[in-house]
Amino acid sequence: MTSSDRPFSEQEDWHARPATAVEEALQTRPTGLTEDEARDRLARYGPNRLVEARRQGTLMRFLRQFHNILLYVMMGSAVITALLGHWIDTAVLLAAVIVNAIIGFIQEGKAESAMDAIRGMLSPHAMVLRDGARSDIDASGLVPGDQMLLASGDRVPADLRLVEAKELRVEEAALTGESLPVEKLAEPVAVDAPLGDRHCMAYSGTVVVHGQARGVVVATGTHTELGRINQLLSGIDSMTTPLLRQVDHFGRVLAVVILGLSALLFAVGTWWLAHPPAEMFMMVVALAASAIPEGLPAIMTVTLALGVQRMARRQAVVRRLPAVEALGSVTVICSDKTGTLTRNEMTVQRVVCASAVVDVSGVGYEPSGQCSIDGRPADPANHPALELAIRAGVLCNDAVLREEGGAWRVEGDPTEGALLVLGGKAGLTQAAGQREWPRRDSIPFESEHRFMATYHEAGPGAPWIFVKGAPERVLDMCGAQADRDAMPQALDVDYWRRMATDTAAKGLRVLGLACKRTGPARGALDFDDVEGGFMLLALVGMMDPPRAEAIAAVAQCHQAGIQVKMITGDHAETARAIGAQLDIGVGKPAVTGAEVALMDDAALREMVMGVDIYARASPEHKLRLVQAMQAQGQVVSMTGDGVNDAPALKRADVGVAMGLKGTEAAKEAADMVLADDNFATIAAAVREGRAVYDNLKKFVLFMLPTNGGEGLLVIAAILFQITLPLTPAQVLWINLVTSSTLGLALAFEPAEPGIMQHRPRPPGEPLLSGLFVQRVLVVSVLMMAGALGLFLWELSNGMSVERARTMAVNAVVAAEMFYLINSRHIYDSVLNREGLFGNRYVWIAIAACVALQLAYTYTPFMHAVFGSVPLGWREWLDVLGAGLLVFAGAEIEKSVMRRRRVRRA
Ligand code: ATP
Repeated sequence: MTSSDRPFSEQEDWHARPATAVEEALQTRPTGLTEDEARDRLARYGPNRLVEARRQGTLMRFLRQFHNILLYVMMGSAVITALLGHWIDTAVLLAAVIVNAIIGFIQEGKAESAMDAIRGMLSPHAMVLRDGARSDIDASGLVPGDQMLLASGDRVPADLRLVEAKELRVEEAALTGESLPVEKLAEPVAVDAPLGDRHCMAYSGTVVVHGQARGVVVATGTHTELGRINQLLSGIDSMTTPLLRQVDHFGRVLAVVILGLSALLFAVGTWWLAHPPAEMFMMVVALAASAIPEGLPAIMTVTLALGVQRMARRQAVVRRLPAVEALGSVTVICSDKTGTLTRNEMTVQRVVCASAVVDVSGVGYEPSGQCSIDGRPADPANHPALELAIRAGVLCNDAVLREEGGAWRVEGDPTEGALLVLGGKAGLTQAAGQREWPRRDSIPFESEHRFMATYHEAGPGAPWIFVKGAPERVLDMCGAQADRDAMPQALDVDYWRRMATDTAAKGLRVLGLACKRTGPARGALDFDDVEGGFMLLALVGMMDPPRAEAIAAVAQCHQAGIQVKMITGDHAETARAIGAQLDIGVGKPAVTGAEVALMDDAALREMVMGVDIYARASPEHKLRLVQAMQAQGQVVSMTGDGVNDAPALKRADVGVAMGLKGTEAAKEAADMVLADDNFATIAAAVREGRAVYDNLKKFVLFMLPTNGGEGLLVIAAILFQITLPLTPAQVLWINLVTSSTLGLALAFEPAEPGIMQHRPRPPGEPLLSGLFVQRVLVVSVLMMAGALGLFLWELSNGMSVERARTMAVNAVVAAEMFYLINSRHIYDSVLNREGLFGNRYVWIAIAACVALQLAYTYTPFMHAVFGSVPLGWREWLDVLGAGLLVFAGAEIEKSVMRRRRVRRA
């Protein structure tokens, strides 16, 4: 194999070679590979992926289903019944265990595939140069020789030899364990330099915390340093949440209680009431096995997984399952403004120069529109300051404006795109601008310093530095030694401040543009070069309208008792004006990041809930705001996109990252990623979070009284010393038919219509409050009464015990089916079209149960095994009556609860 066949061989010393030699060896150039070359290399070297952790085999996954304390109890009972020679009971018990394991297995598979689909939605992206143009590709498509661009917040997706680095700092903890960021440069280092000292390399898995760079991919997939140490990066967390643990614990406690009660029942039955011990024992085993909620863990998991899937369909990708629960109890949503609450489609509407205010017409990114002053058309060519300002905006710019099939599109930051469009309207294109004034160096925009600077040469010995950024920041750079030749009048700070506030108050995003005619002191542009001496050219005001769906979503949140706060890097006046359109912070003060910085924690806590708009805020302010709100007992959701937002996202109860404009670092810190960056998606996720919680509650509320009713039926018979209405085998049959099948339908319940009309659930609230004890009692007693009543009625009419028992079995199952329909709504009546037919899974489950019960009643096999007998239509009517009794009772109980709730509210 020649060395060109394997450019990522482990022996390569890329870090010790000059960048040009690396490019040569990898047969690449600064304009990148062509698409054809990339395709060939992908076929040759394979996708840029680490080998996934080996999944458990299917058999192991199935066997693991039996590892469940509740199933152990049932298997233990099966062994005992077998020892006693009650083969039918043994068979039914084992069937129940196996059915449960199968259901658990299928449900877990479903949950896993839901999570897998979501992992797919989160695959990282990489910005590469292909055929001379930037292109955003899936990181798995990277090949050796690709030219890749890095920006702050990126997780490096492959091993790169850096060719250009600008203020690049990389955190390499994933590789070296060192959490302090390392400065990176393009110069080669010694051949024997250890990994941590190879400053010209950026390794896969490390995170860019600052700056920008271009590098050549030298190794991908398992050939990277990360691949070699075979370390997988944190993916999506496993399927457990505080609530699941709470439920698991509840299930275990319930099992112990049931076993205790069973022992007591056995003692009372044999010693006090003198029932034959063998019979009593079988009954007790059957009852215990039926009452134990063996399907509970599986149903909980699938309910959560289905919720996660529904959220993903609404563009909210959950990375950590506990977030689903937390979403249901969120009381405050803090959101960015640009792109989340607004459309992030900027249009310059106003340019404020020293001597005139220029209005700009036109909408969208199409560069057609006109400048006018006081309503009269104005040609920028006749206004040198305006023209220079527009030129500054076009040159100090990293975005690209393209036309494709008549539609104009911006690649890069929309704020910068708007300035290119403004240039186009004034006849100044990006290409021409850069030809005449080639760029020599730049300081990229970072939210933390709020400006961008570029250095150009407009000819030999004609250096220019342009800056653009937040007006206060740019004003600070202007003043003292301003360029008197180009702009004779002194800097009127008051005028510019007034105009900045005035422009912002119209809801426009304001940017200052300035220039100076000197070059950098040390060849390359650095922060000292932009300290001062600039001449302010103009302020531009750009419109970014709120998203229509965000307006509706904010209103919905308010209705649901959730406060919405805007935390933005933008100007306070812009934030207030946009806030007013969204109904955020109306009539309340807006506070700036600088003011937050001056407050101590106590003062911040005091103030935090009374303010809805935080402007000019930085990531560290976000962190303090989250902490202050949490200290006030709030459950907080916080959005973020930059690398520095990670601590606030981690701290928040639900950290939300932007899928489109967010950095990898923010996404990894977040609990949930918005695939569409849209505020309305957060509101939709809150709704789903509430629905998941409701569904869990509905299931437990369904399960408890159905198990309880069956238990009461037998206990009553034992205590009153009447013939047992159900044999042990029949008890086990009912359990086999109904548990897991009927209740599972509730996992598919859609959110109730009024779900966003009540206040958030208090965090830590137990799944079942005392109020529900009443429901459990009413339903259990009615179920028992219906079945026992029918049984005794049949006996008193001289019917056989077998017939009466067949009636009792069918009555219990019918009551459970009817109660399943009741359980669709916790408080609301189901006596309407939606209530009865809104969830087809309920009817599928009922149909399955009906089929099984018909088989139970009419097939000779069942007659032989369970002692059942055929029934006539009159008996079926009675069975139906027993079901309806429970149905009516549950609806009446709900209406009492509703009235009580209204009175309390
Ligand atoms: P949000 O946090 O709501 O998304 P934002 O996007 O407005 O707020 P930043 O992107 O941090 O916040 O921008 C803060 C300020 O920096 C803006 O108000 C603007 O004045 C300035 N600014 C934004 N983008 C650029 C850019 N590309 N170049 C120079 N200055 C910029």
